[in-house]
Amino acid sequence: MSETRAGSVHVLVVDDNQDSVIIMRGMLEPRGFKVSSASTGSQALAAIKREPPDVVLLDVMMPEMSGLEVLQRLKEEYQTGKIPVILVTAKTQDDDVVKGYQFGADYYIPKPFTVKQLVYGIELVLGKGEPVA
Ligand SMILES: [Mg+2]
Repeated sequence: MSETRAGSVHVLVVDDNQDSVIIMRGMLEPRGFKVSSASTGSQALAAIKREPPDVVLLDVMMPEMSGLEVLQRLKEEYQTGKIPVILVTAKTQDDDVVKGYQFGADYYIPKPFTVKQLVYGIELVLGKGEPVA
């Protein structure tokens, strides 16, 4: 993917684990993505209302408000319902994945992941995925 395409993409990373945020930032910023972050669900909801991102990378297991609750709130609001949300989580048991999609997740990336998986997932939900030859 070209730097120009990534350059216009604002990604909000929501994760209570600072290391995860640093890893994702480190993968995305060098590729031209604009990255902002939130460490709690309520912080994320406020940030999204203030400045809607192009895509949200959302951790599931967070204290206070889980990623699934954040997801549900985003998807039920008219203003935020169309923002693509990718769940990024170690909770990859069948039920968790299905629940994520039922709550409106656009895509699922299991932890741990590679740069390729992360960038591909973002491009996919933005409708920019390169067709596989
Ligand atoms: Mg977590």
